[in-house]
Amino acid sequence: MKVLVTGGAGFIGSHLCERLISEGHEVVCLDNFFTGRRDNIRHLLDCARFELLRHDVCEPLLLEVDQIYNLACPASPVHYQYNPIKTVKSNVMGTLNMLVLARRVGARILQASTSEVYGEPYVHPQHEGYWGNVNPIGLRSCYDEGKRVAETLMMDYHRQNKVDTRIARIFNTYGPRMAESDGRVVSNFIVQALRGQPLTLYGDGSQTRSFCYVDDLVEGLIRLMHADGLHDPVNLGNPGEFSIRQLAEAIAGLCHAELLIQYHPLPQDDPTQRCPDIARAGELLGWQPTVALRDGLERTVPYFSERLKRCSAHHAKHNGRLVPAGDIPFVERRRAYSEAAHWTDRHRS
Ligand code: NAD
Ligand code: UDP
Repeated sequence: MKVLVTGGAGFIGSHLCERLISEGHEVVCLDNFFTGRRDNIRHLLDCARFELLRHDVCEPLLLEVDQIYNLACPASPVHYQYNPIKTVKSNVMGTLNMLVLARRVGARILQASTSEVYGEPYVHPQHEGYWGNVNPIGLRSCYDEGKRVAETLMMDYHRQNKVDTRIARIFNTYGPRMAESDGRVVSNFIVQALRGQPLTLYGDGSQTRSFCYVDDLVEGLIRLMHADGLHDPVNLGNPGEFSIRQLAEAIAGLCHAELLIQYHPLPQDDPTQRCPDIARAGELLGWQPTVALRDGLERTVPYFSERLKRCSAHHAKHNGRLVPAGDIPFVERRRAYSEAAHWTDRHRS
């Protein structure tokens, strides 16, 4: 099959591309390199069945494909809040463009949604029937509400236009190829512990998350894509629930670092608890995670250790200048991501 993976040069996308290539498919990896990197897919570039396309999902696209995995969207709060209007556009216009494509070429499409659609949940663990409790005007809304609209678009395109849709509600996922400057908790803590720096704990660390190793997640995405007639959302995540303080302790231990903590205020609307109910995925996909947090972290730490060695050489070469997470040079990135602000200014005047 010919498969399009948008956001394919990012963390999850690159693992998905690799898996699809290993299964013999033709893969088109589409990315605008906001947070994605060539390094993540460099090992696939020589494969004749792999094609890299620099494109922004906010622009229309016409391509003959059989399946579309729509992952294009920054996932770390630091990055999705960098240009929130662009984040909304990536989720709404990006998903719309991919649905138009799916309809036109008759492709099946899977949307990477998120546990963030549950917001600050009153139901615990979160099952797919729960409608969530999301602040529509806060700092996280560009992502949370953007993903909620993306889900709405998927369901309406299915009901109205019979597009063959799938929705994966992904819970916190981690593993090799997260960017060292990604800003999410697992990568931050590992990088800080390896550098002998204090771990930055937001709030008192009692908030919880459930962490899924990336290989498990990719298996779930592929099973969902192949499940027939499953248009309703499906949670994909590891139900093992840990406080952020417990995560800090585990990572410090694995990195053989003394546990030093630097406290920061809890960001606005940071959910206090998060845990997936994965009964639907178990029943309909026969899926459940197989990698425990400790094992997954053991596989992730060596990756960051290696990256940091390479980064310190890079850092020295660039005289310590800030190196952005993705591959777009910083100035170009600012230009690309200020586009939405210019649009607003023009229309205001
Ligand atoms: P990531 O930031 O590593 O990857 C996102 C990729 O999308 C990057 O390669 C980025 O350059 C690309 N991208 C962003 N905007 C784009 C645009 N407008 N056009 C084209 N490409 C664009 O993040 P990730 O963790 O790999 O997340 C992948 C997807 O999974 C996202 O949709 C995210 O919302 C979803 N998700 C991830 C998690 C998680 O814990 N990792 C949890 C829930 C949902
Ligand atoms: N967090 C933290 N220190 C960090 C980064 C994050 O304590 O350096 C916390 C954050 O406040 C949140 C949890 O860890 O409660 C998970 O944050 P992340 O950004 O990884 O994902 P999300 O909030 O989107 O679940």
